[in-house]
Amino acid sequence: MRKAVFSDVIIIGAGVVGAAIARELSRYRLKVALLEKECDVGLGSSKANSAIIHAGFHAPSGTLKAKLTPSGNHLHEELARQLCVPFKRVGSLTIAFTSKDIGILERLQKQGKENAVSGLRIISQEELLKKEPRINPKAKAALYAPTTGIISPYEMTIALVENAARNGAQVYLNRRVLGIQVDPDATKIIRTNRGVFKARWVINSAGLHSDEIAKMVGITKFEIVPRKGEEYILDRSKGNLVSHVIYPVPTLISEGVLIIPTVYGNIMLGPTAEEVADKSDFSTTGEGFRHVMNRARKLLPCLSPEDVIGSFAGLRASLPQGDFVVYSSREVPGFISLIGIDSSGLTAAPILARMMVKMLDQEGLKLRPNVDFHPTRQAGIRFRQLSPQEKAEAVAENPPYGKVVCVCETVSEGEIVDAIRDGAITLDGVKFRTHLGMGRCQGSFCHLRAAEILCREGGISLRKLTKKGGKSRLLADGLASPAKRKRTPPRKKGTARGVHGAARSVRRTEVSLAIVGGGAAGLAAAVAARRAGAQDVLVLDRNEKAGGVLLQCKHEGFGLRKFRVSLSGKEYIQKFLGQARKLNVKVMAATTVLEINSHKEILIVSEKEGVRNIRAKTIILAMGCRERQRGEIGIPGGRPAGIFTAGAAQQWINMKGCLPGKKVVILGSGDVGLIMARRLTLGGAKVEA
Ligand SMILES: Cc1cc2nc3c(=O)[nH]c(=O)nc-3n(C[C@H](O)[C@H](O)[C@H](O)COP(=O)(O)OP(=O)(O)OC[C@H]3O[C@@H](n4cnc5c(N)ncnc54)[C@H](O)[C@@H]3O)c2cc1C
Repeated sequence: MRKAVFSDVIIIGAGVVGAAIARELSRYRLKVALLEKECDVGLGSSKANSAIIHAGFHAPSGTLKAKLTPSGNHLHEELARQLCVPFKRVGSLTIAFTSKDIGILERLQKQGKENAVSGLRIISQEELLKKEPRINPKAKAALYAPTTGIISPYEMTIALVENAARNGAQVYLNRRVLGIQVDPDATKIIRTNRGVFKARWVINSAGLHSDEIAKMVGITKFEIVPRKGEEYILDRSKGNLVSHVIYPVPTLISEGVLIIPTVYGNIMLGPTAEEVADKSDFSTTGEGFRHVMNRARKLLPCLSPEDVIGSFAGLRASLPQGDFVVYSSREVPGFISLIGIDSSGLTAAPILARMMVKMLDQEGLKLRPNVDFHPTRQAGIRFRQLSPQEKAEAVAENPPYGKVVCVCETVSEGEIVDAIRDGAITLDGVKFRTHLGMGRCQGSFCHLRAAEILCREGGISLRKLTKKGGKSRLLADGLASPAKRKRTPPRKKGTARGVHGAARSVRRTEVSLAIVGGGAAGLAAAVAARRAGAQDVLVLDRNEKAGGVLLQCKHEGFGLRKFRVSLSGKEYIQKFLGQARKLNVKVMAATTVLEINSHKEILIVSEKEGVRNIRAKTIILAMGCRERQRGEIGIPGGRPAGIFTAGAAQQWINMKGCLPGKKVVILGSGDVGLIMARRLTLGGAKVEA
């Protein structure tokens, strides 16, 4: 049997609250252990919420929420700065449509003042429409709260844990607490699925499951009632619809459906508020979607269901009394439970952490300052946010920053490698650290490449790779192992031209014709242009090889008209590539177009060339089309592993030799659905329907 691990303080649950407590305790010379049942931190409510740092005027005065929310709000800005987490103080507007609503605004303003929320004022319709011109013009007034903020909640949780670990806290993932025994000397013996942990002081911050943890030491009076909140994300092109968080007047049980700008430039609509019996019900529903859309459109009539690109649901760990509970009792000294930390818990996390330190101090824990405490954390590069010159320098220093993997969010291979080195071991782990797959295509273009990088860098076999740990395996089976590639070597400081010769500055070139997209359309256009006399023709393609979607089409039937012979997609495109080569068309593969401006200048990046500015007399866009994700066509439900678009499934099976599933259901029986049914059957899968 493994020996028990002794600590001064054990924290159960690595959500934002447990993470904040671990960091706060790491300011002292203590042995702190953070136990988390999942394979990563922040996978509970802390990853699935509205991401608002509330001002604090919603909570009835005198409640713990009323006390903690405004002070938590104040702490976030500095904390986000120290930990390099995206945060914006955007302010909020609560919209009134009737005189009764205006009465509610006055009550909220009074309540806010009692809760010490600063800057609250009721503004006129005119001022409201100046601040938010697209708001329903029937609105009569609004409560303006300048202190409301927005944040990346999962990045905050990850950053808090990283910083706590840097300052000495021990983080134990995949440790599900199964039972707690309290010794007569008040030592708590915590049994997990992987070992025993002991400590005199224990903090229960297990979110939805905090009532179950409390029961393990005989505290039975709390019963969490999960309250589901569905949220819907709009495409970034709609990101400028509002600039403040927009609240309706609240109902008795919730703050209502909000319109929320996110720190990444999207808009989010939600949440719903529905009590559910099952603590694992994270599904979205058609009813929820209609409810959110109807309510949100009342505030912002220009919203369209077509703008939705994704959805998720989170569960609030609510108690019937509706307030946070911080519970410690004489019967179990040194055991503190944080229960009912539902909405505004993200906002309150930093102040809850300070409160825990005070309580532990009062309970007799010796607090000697950790003189080596380091309050800051350096975040990895966010390639998308760099200027062209900074991008050029980043690629020269570390070429994988020049390989864009997620095109929607411009996430580079270098960032994925950084995330893996920082602890990501699943696709969701990479997603929450880099924003990969969070754009319009919701990962259908980039998950395959990200999975390969995860396997290569993390030494994980593709068969074992999961979306979010546990049973969420990405693929059913491998038909063949994908080719092994070498891990990225540790970064070297570059020479003047960078480690691989990419230039440190943005180089400029000119061409007469630039074609973006090297699929069938782009190559055909290049060949035709050369034949018609165009001089220097350049084709740019983001994939490793030009050829586009046809490269993954193994089935025949291409070329019957053009070449009078039935070819596979790959054979067909090879003919075009051959023609292009003969005509001296320059094809730059593995090159991503980052920007095209009104002077017909194309900003490109590649691992080999770095960042370049190409001025073209003429530009042809031949970027093909994108498959629509289920979020875009309104298919509700959960977000398990194993849902693929036809294109993504085809890539896995035809290009990587990996079967996505053994038993398959295909939605849609057009030619693509039937081609996939045939291909998957030939690959060994059973197509059930
Ligand atoms: C839809 C929705 C919208 C919200 N919007 C906002 C908002 O805009 N602003 C705001 O301030 N708040 C908001 N909240 C509330 C906020 O998300 C939560 O209050 C906060 O995330 C709670 O953090 P936590 O650490 O207590 O819980 P969690 O993040 O759930 O963390 C608890 C952790 O405990 C772990 N755990 C559980 N059982 C065990 C066990 N037996 N052993 C080991 N580990 C265990 C879990 O795996 C989990 O990681 C929202 C919540 C929801 C659901």
